[in-house]
Amino acid sequence: MADFSGLPIRDELKAFEPYGAPQLDVPVLLNVNENPYPPSAEVVADIAAAVAGAARGLNRYPDREFLALRNDLAVYLGRESGAELVGEQVWAANGSNEVMLHLLQAFGGPGRTALSFAPTYSMYPEYARDTSTAWVTGRRETDFTLDVDHALAKIAEHRPSVVLLASPNNPTGTALPLDVIERITKTCAELPCVVVVDEAYGEFRRSGTPSAVTLLPSYRNLAVARTMSKAFALAGARVGYLAASADLVDALRIVRLPYHLSAVTQAVARAALRHADELLGRVAELRDARDETVTWLRAQGLEAVDSDANFVLFGRFADRHAVWQAILDDGVLIRETGPEGWLRVTIGSPQENEAFRTALTKVLEATVDERAQR
Ligand SMILES: *Cc1c(COP(=O)(O)O)cnc(C)c1O
Repeated sequence: MADFSGLPIRDELKAFEPYGAPQLDVPVLLNVNENPYPPSAEVVADIAAAVAGAARGLNRYPDREFLALRNDLAVYLGRESGAELVGEQVWAANGSNEVMLHLLQAFGGPGRTALSFAPTYSMYPEYARDTSTAWVTGRRETDFTLDVDHALAKIAEHRPSVVLLASPNNPTGTALPLDVIERITKTCAELPCVVVVDEAYGEFRRSGTPSAVTLLPSYRNLAVARTMSKAFALAGARVGYLAASADLVDALRIVRLPYHLSAVTQAVARAALRHADELLGRVAELRDARDETVTWLRAQGLEAVDSDANFVLFGRFADRHAVWQAILDDGVLIRETGPEGWLRVTIGSPQENEAFRTALTKVLEATVDERAQR
């Protein structure tokens, strides 16, 4: 525990530890929803050349508006979601976590409220805390879907200025139907309140699930956040972005720190986007492995939640920590997160998924033996 005595730390921060999943040095890392496949030699060479180009100008501050990157992202996201976008509708920062912090800085703040529906991403309350925004949650149903009437009642009760909806949700993997997002966004437009649809796992969604990007032409209070950290296999570069109305983006330009996106980051992101097809090339395979994992977990007599992401929430265990630890002892790190009794596993390479299954099978057999001995 840190010692803050003699330091004027804000009261609301005192009880906290820095956020983060354990970063342990084990052979199989299936805990933070990364893409298991590193870039190819060709992509590495192109990124390295782009960084060298940026390095030649590092005596100067980077392009503050980075419209070249925003245009590239608009082209990519437009193609991925089937919508039309221009660079002025796109914003980017060091991970979509920073993009969403910008949203709270611009639209939250003292005397204002942010609302989401639990269980959901554990960083949302931190953006609220760090911007002195009140934080309230409604609930998801027992199957982790969102009941629209409940959502609208919570909005009427709390009159938030920001609503955060993760779709596909973390840690459950659940995507929201477009009509649910649209009804919430329409109601929020009247308050007014900004609706943030966090599509960090958007590229993994099952076919037939449209992106909320397709709603953008109708709603200027809607922002759809994406990241290059997950499907795009670029977590180490820290690039997240959003699409919204150009007016909403103008509000974010006011709160960003000057030159927040380094010339190196911009160059890396643009080089990676030139190789989008290759970097995303394993997404279909990961999606299939995800569906197989759900089927396999159920065949072991466990519950597993249908997922539109690159992870699966499964359980339930009387002592989930013991299960997590036993799997870790076999060299496989998964995540102890979500409601009590559940664990979350990221989909990795075939070898990694096999290591997970072997480790979990051992745990399940041990508990069967224990039961038999009683
Ligand atoms: C991983 C994740 C993000 C993205 O984080 P970055 O800062 O872009 O790496 C955003 N939202 C959710 C729900 C996530 O799980």
